[in-house]
Amino acid sequence: MLYSLTEEQEMIKEVARRIAEEKILPKRAELDEKEEFPWDILKEIARADLFGIFIPEEYGGLGFGSFENALAVEQIAWGCAGVATAFAASGLGAYPIFLFGNEEQKHTYLPPIAKGEKIAAFGLTEPNAGSDAGGIQTTAMKDGEYYVLNGTKQWITNAGEADIYVIIALTDKKKGPRGASAFILEKGDPGFSFGKKEKKMGIRASTTGSLIFEDCRIPKERLLGKEGMGFFIALKTLDYARPGVGALAVGLAQAALDEAVKFARQRKQFGQPIISFQAVGHMLADMATQIEAARALIYAVCKYIDTNPKEFAKYAAIAKLFASDVAMRVTIDAVQVLGGHGYMRDYPVEKMMRDAKILQIYEGTNQIQRNVIAQVLNKEYGRKK
Ligand SMILES: Cc1cc2nc3c(=O)[nH]c(=O)nc-3n(C[C@H](O)[C@H](O)[C@H](O)COP(=O)(O)OP(=O)(O)OC[C@H]3O[C@@H](n4cnc5c(N)ncnc54)[C@H](O)[C@@H]3O)c2cc1C
Repeated sequence: MLYSLTEEQEMIKEVARRIAEEKILPKRAELDEKEEFPWDILKEIARADLFGIFIPEEYGGLGFGSFENALAVEQIAWGCAGVATAFAASGLGAYPIFLFGNEEQKHTYLPPIAKGEKIAAFGLTEPNAGSDAGGIQTTAMKDGEYYVLNGTKQWITNAGEADIYVIIALTDKKKGPRGASAFILEKGDPGFSFGKKEKKMGIRASTTGSLIFEDCRIPKERLLGKEGMGFFIALKTLDYARPGVGALAVGLAQAALDEAVKFARQRKQFGQPIISFQAVGHMLADMATQIEAARALIYAVCKYIDTNPKEFAKYAAIAKLFASDVAMRVTIDAVQVLGGHGYMRDYPVEKMMRDAKILQIYEGTNQIQRNVIAQVLNKEYGRKK
């Protein structure tokens, strides 16, 4: 469908698509099999300036918004959701600096991220704090001109590969979540090390690991915003990033549909291509319908975010929830359309199905997205009385 893209938006989409076709497709099965981080591909993405899409020009980026970023993420995910996760997670680490950093922090950290010279990561989750992020235990205690961090962050995308990390830690344990603050950490900071790299079901080209802080001493200038703003910063960051997960889901689902239609047109049983059986054709029709609805929703939400509304948590959650559920259903159906072939690693749809599952889990599970939507509805309807 035509979405009236500007010339620049078309160009971003085409550049990302070309990288997906020429650089990602030939390598995705190998990256998945070897669980290898896609440095060569990320360098191609950097050469195309895509890491800086939403970063303002004065900080070395292209100065576009969420919508253009979504266009790029969608196409990269069409190639491989693991590569797209590594790419998008750098944006997740950049958002809090872009949104809450002071001028010095923005000038120091955003240009290398925008150019893809350094990638970023975002660390909120801990062994005892997943959905209940308010339960974090990592501390950052003020000590003169420094903060001293102690604790462990778990399942952090780009752990060990990224150079720049935004971490949420407690500066005042007594206040619970209201005592949390956000900090910029650099790989190589004394007392900052990495734990084991996880072995995952899918998105295996992306690295997931833990961050360990043992008396990690950082200058007090690394605090983002003010003390106590940590959870606000984390929630705003997730609001901006969640439609990106939706875009990733749309790209992945589209790739699964493309494979399913191609196969259904070629595969003959009972003397005819299986696409001519209504049961198969209807599955493909439902897949296409869901994908187009998800794409239209993601584009609309991203365009809304680009108007700088004060509050958009509900729409960010709706976008992530809907599109990730679509990606899960569509990839399962793609495997079904391919039958036994779909179950074999020689065909890409089994990887797509494994990759899709994480989209319903990370950046807040889909149950948590529903909680967010319901909480906002409750507030909105309460106000109307
Ligand atoms: C591959 C991968 C990459 C990740 N990358 C990052 C990253 O870069 N940075 C980062 O900070 N985190 C990251 N995470 C962590 C991710 O955001 C969490 O896994 C996620 O928020 C869920 O937390 P949990 O896994 O601890 O599940 P839990 O919170 O233990 O939840 C278990 C189940 O209970 C349900 N549940 C929990 N509470 C409620 C409730 N109130 N209402 C209804 N249902 C509920 C959940 O939906 C889920 O089904 C990543 C995780 C994975 C697996």
